[in-house]
Amino acid sequence: AFGAVEPNMGTLVRIKLYARDEAQAQRAIRAAFDRIAQLDDILSDYKPRSELNQICRTAVGHPVRVSGDLFRVLDASEQLAVETGGAFDITLGPVTHLWRKARQEHRVPELVAVHEALAHCGCRKLHVIVAQHAIELDEPGMQLDVGGIAKGYAADEALAVLSKAGISSALVAASGDLAFSDPPPGQTGWKIGVGSFDSAEAPFTRILVLAHGAVSTSGDSEQHLDAGGTRYSHIIDPKTGMGLTHEITVTIVARHGIDSDGMSTAVSVLGAERGFELVERKPELAALIVENGRSHPQILESSRFRLLGTGS
Ligand code: ADP
Ligand code: MG
Repeated sequence: AFGAVEPNMGTLVRIKLYARDEAQAQRAIRAAFDRIAQLDDILSDYKPRSELNQICRTAVGHPVRVSGDLFRVLDASEQLAVETGGAFDITLGPVTHLWRKARQEHRVPELVAVHEALAHCGCRKLHVIVAQHAIELDEPGMQLDVGGIAKGYAADEALAVLSKAGISSALVAASGDLAFSDPPPGQTGWKIGVGSFDSAEAPFTRILVLAHGAVSTSGDSEQHLDAGGTRYSHIIDPKTGMGLTHEITVTIVARHGIDSDGMSTAVSVLGAERGFELVERKPELAALIVENGRSHPQILESSRFRLLGTGS
């Protein structure tokens, strides 16, 4: 087995793979990391010159044709916004940036500032025009943030590059977003630990054994703000503009990382009950939802997840 770690997309990306020899492994790893760096140049909302940030300036009031990568991420985001009644919302940039600053300054943002930022958000002001591969924004001052879905897509694309380099068995992990191909030689799948590792009172873990798919976990991130006895997540409720305060860890198993990543963020916003219902309606998904901040931790396993669990 060969492995490598590199910082990218504001996190650490790990690759594990099986190859003929060291040279093939190193070539493939280099190409996969380069692909992720290329995607970060397109999708980052930190880099002023990213394609994402450019269209926030150029696509106001008229459609602008975008790259295939940006289009795929925005189109998937739009579909998820519709499916979740707007719980997943990539137009929250003005609000997520406010909370980013708030985390650095260790204080909750002013309510007036949150409301002012929210006024520039709303997925109805973003238009994905499929026929033209184009994007249009209704007003200036909008800011897109695909941080809830881009890492899963990057994991998918890195895996595709590895496959083109002749690597059929690999796992790419962009922090909590994993995508993997054939099982390691002689095994039935990649062993993936999921669950809630946060709480000493409610440790709940499962080992999944999976191949050809993706697993994403939202909620166990380092990125939160503790203030006045409340913990605010970096995931925002679009209805209020506030960081989530319910403690929830969501793991989604899907065929592709773009789906598992987006859905894990979306289900975190929807909460256990509504999120669970959504997952159960989609036969290609499995979910494990752990809610900690209660007297009794609530653990929900979707019907497909329960079947996966028996393999462990
Ligand atoms: P992580 O970055 O820890 O893997 P997620 O995949 O859940 O976690 O993504 C969280 C990121 O998604 C936030 O940092 C922000 O950029 C973005 N985001 C926050 N709230 C929402 C939301 N309601 N819908 C879509 N994206 C969001
Ligand atoms: Mg996500």
